Amino acid sequence: MSFTLHGIPVSRGIAIGRAYLIAPAALDVDHYLVETHQIETEVQRFGAAQNAVQHELDTLRTELPADAPGEMGAFLNVHTLILRDAMLAEATVELIRTRRYNAEWALTEQLQLLSRIFDDVEDAYLRERKADIEQVVERVLKALKGSFVPAEGLDGEAPEDMIVVAHDIAPADMLQFKKQTFRAFVTDLGGRTSHTAIVARSLGIPAAVGVQQASALIRQHDMIIVDGDQGIVIVDPAPIILEEYTYRQSEKALEQRKLQRLKFAPAQTVDGTEIHLCANIELPEDAAIALAAGAVGVGLFRTEFLFMNKGNHSPDEEQQFDAYRRAIEGMRGHPVTIRTIDVGADKPLDHRDEGHGYEVAPNPALGLRAIRYSLSEPQMFLTQLRAILRASALGPIRILIPMLAHAREIDQTLDLIAEAKRQCDLAGQAYDRNIKVGAMIEIPAAAIALPMFLNRLDFLSIGTNDLIQYTLAIDRADNAVAHLYDPLHPAVLHLIAFTLREAKKAGVPVAVCGEMAGDPTVTRLLLGMGLTEFSMHPSQVLEVKQEVLRAHIPTVERHVQDVLAAFEPAEQAAALKRLARC
Ligand code: PEP
Ligand code: MG
Repeated sequence: MSFTLHGIPVSRGIAIGRAYLIAPAALDVDHYLVETHQIETEVQRFGAAQNAVQHELDTLRTELPADAPGEMGAFLNVHTLILRDAMLAEATVELIRTRRYNAEWALTEQLQLLSRIFDDVEDAYLRERKADIEQVVERVLKALKGSFVPAEGLDGEAPEDMIVVAHDIAPADMLQFKKQTFRAFVTDLGGRTSHTAIVARSLGIPAAVGVQQASALIRQHDMIIVDGDQGIVIVDPAPIILEEYTYRQSEKALEQRKLQRLKFAPAQTVDGTEIHLCANIELPEDAAIALAAGAVGVGLFRTEFLFMNKGNHSPDEEQQFDAYRRAIEGMRGHPVTIRTIDVGADKPLDHRDEGHGYEVAPNPALGLRAIRYSLSEPQMFLTQLRAILRASALGPIRILIPMLAHAREIDQTLDLIAEAKRQCDLAGQAYDRNIKVGAMIEIPAAAIALPMFLNRLDFLSIGTNDLIQYTLAIDRADNAVAHLYDPLHPAVLHLIAFTLREAKKAGVPVAVCGEMAGDPTVTRLLLGMGLTEFSMHPSQVLEVKQEVLRAHIPTVERHVQDVLAAFEPAEQAAALKRLARC
């Protein structure tokens, strides 16, 4: 039966394919497809993990103290039976063999299926046995962890029509998907600028988030269409609908091919104003993609992604240095703006967060995140600063600091940068002595108290994602309030316009690196406010360039003044319409 689900569009384009459901219980584990010739090795890896757990259970049983309650032994026996039960063990092996899931994915997928069966059982005692199965699965997953083999990518036989459907995906998990070939993403939760959405966008494939109930209503391998422009998911489409979307897909491909012609055109407005279109990246490998997309620099390297999926090991100074070096090399002489680690809120650091209580923090977005976190961990921060400084000897680098609000935070940060330089000097390590240090303007307080920043820093970059979140008090990752997330709210526009105007007056370079910078529907608006440096997902560069090439700044400026003067929605809509047509 065909039906349509509505969510929030976060990454444009149309995808047609088969649904691959990822169970919520499986979200903490890696998902990848094993290559055909590795299937038996993966089955053996699962078997070895089972044996390890068996050994663990046997040891526990023999070491039971004499006065242990009798049920303890019985529980261990039940767990051994579950471990070898065909419903768990054989079915998992079957999933590895038929779907080529890695062992962790197969096991958690099967757990999900069994959980549903147990939920429907009438008998309360039997229903509670679900917890035993979960415990056994936990043990096997732990045993598998020791033998984790990161995905290398897929061979030629990968099912190319995979569309991932999940309740939610953490940014760290989304990062894992970068190695895979999926056609689209659909999640029940999430907001337009949640980091999961941002990473999905960086994959350049259609995505819709906040599609409530998607993971409950869509079944494994259902044929689905994801319309990433509208945030629509059509399940089991009628032939005529499928035909229509196939046609739209080919139209879009044609548009993309046309856009490629703009790749080497200089980004200049009709009146000759030069505009810098830079890219946001999450991993060093993205730099080459950014360059290929026509970006003239990296305006934002979100380094926190280097710290994800690393278990208990943060990358050390050498590993970080290597990552920054690779980003510089990927950009072949174009500047790279490296933002220091911005963890917290929807980007927790798995191994560190326990100590700081992120998991239980009542308002993580307002908590110890970004620079606040770095200042609370000075040794970790100094390590990152030294790695960045050392990389600055190899190519043009700027340091960008996230989420500053207080003068004393800026001063402490600058002191630590001076200390990192001193340590490099002592070690005889070269670095750019004039390295520029800038701040993200992403808290309303920072925008309003701008002189504090202008007096202390070399450049600014407006993070509209957080600026909107904090100005409107809308959690950017929460789909329940996603409808209130409004980049065009007059308060937001005034903060951006004020920051651009004041920075320009003070002669301090300023960029926008939030998602607004990559949205072609607001390019004119930003140009008319005086923005000349945009940083966005590589996939957006050419669309934004197209808008830049069509704009005449003096004309656009006049209409933008009307937009800024409009506080009533109808008035603003009319002014925006005139701006779009001018
Ligand atoms: C922003 O807040 O706009 C930004 C670019 O940073 P992030 O999305 O990583 O928080
Ligand atoms: Mg931010």
